[in-house]
Amino acid sequence: MIRVGVNGYGTIGKRVADAICVQPDMNLVGVAKTRPNYEAEIAIRNGYDLYAADPAQMGSFAEAGIDITGPVSDLVAASDVIVDATPSGIGEQNCKLYDAHSTKAILQGGEDADAAEMSFVSRANYDDVGDERTVRVVSCNTTGLTRLLAPLAERYGVETARVTLIRRGGDPGEIDRGPINDIVPDPTEIPSHHGPDVNTIFPEIDIETAGVKVPATLMHLHSVNITLEREPGAQRVHELLQNESRLFFIPEQAKIGGLGPLKEFARDTGRTRGDLWENCLWEESLTVAGTDLSLFQSIHQEADVVPENIDAIRALASEQSREESMRLTDETLGVGLESMFADSRRRAVRPAADD
Ligand code: NAD
Repeated sequence: MIRVGVNGYGTIGKRVADAICVQPDMNLVGVAKTRPNYEAEIAIRNGYDLYAADPAQMGSFAEAGIDITGPVSDLVAASDVIVDATPSGIGEQNCKLYDAHSTKAILQGGEDADAAEMSFVSRANYDDVGDERTVRVVSCNTTGLTRLLAPLAERYGVETARVTLIRRGGDPGEIDRGPINDIVPDPTEIPSHHGPDVNTIFPEIDIETAGVKVPATLMHLHSVNITLEREPGAQRVHELLQNESRLFFIPEQAKIGGLGPLKEFARDTGRTRGDLWENCLWEESLTVAGTDLSLFQSIHQEADVVPENIDAIRALASEQSREESMRLTDETLGVGLESMFADSRRRAVRPAADD
């Protein structure tokens, strides 16, 4: 069993902790928090051992009646791998603590690429993890882009990728984020950091990204334009992408016309927190003309990196292959909404170019 600790129990950390608990080959040692709040209460109710990220705050947990097992250094010492899900920039600082205990660490996408020894997306470079002690699971947007590009690059080659990322202003729990009534180029420069971040996984892909922030909290929407090196045909691309477990084609028949109904669909399927771990691709949007491919995909920023964190734990601390790890992660979490729409597997996508 791989002993795993989670340092930073917020949006990402609480999801990763829950996901660790359903893995047959992992034990959750505990989770670390800075301050007592409702998430600390929930951690205790879930039966998770709670550690104080800041030892000076141990008294405030006691005052709130929340039992603390010990300081975060105890959690690090008792873990084979730490998933650091602290706010951007703190993970890099925490690496000294992980090093001091010879504990391997997974950082998140808010950290600079060079804060860890390599950037990670399961589908693209799981098997490249060797004796690294730190990996960085890239951001939600970069994870979503890489999952899409990986099979296309393998099968057809990618000449260029041009992507506009229409990004949610903040997560639902972030009351201080915006914009409230605006549409903001973010950043105003092109490219945004997402393209270079994809290049930390696929250095050879010519990708340019532009970012826009909008007053929404639900998900991101990507408008994707890719020029392939070899001409595929619409049906072939559809089949290729449909066979990827972490890509979900929203079928036309579902009549899901936006991110609101998409999240409602996730909740109706019984997904905890309404989480969508898969990239959600609009089937009608898939257009292939010669070597040019266009589509819309949506990324649930709070959830898509969760399966990657689980795979990253195995990549660092087990002998399991990419296929074994991804299959186990997908099975235990219930990744794969395609089965909800069995008929869609048999239907042909409306072709823009014949195979
Ligand atoms: P969050 O603010 O929701 O959670 C961070 C948690 O860490 C909070 O509970 C905070 O109290 C705690 N914390 C603060 N300082 C700490 C410290 N020194 N030690 C331990 N805990 C500390 O943040 P998040 O959205 O979960 O983001 C975490 C990381 O994941 C960031 O790198 C972020 O860029 C990345 N990420 C976030 C999203 C997203 O959309 N939320 C998606 C993908 C990746």
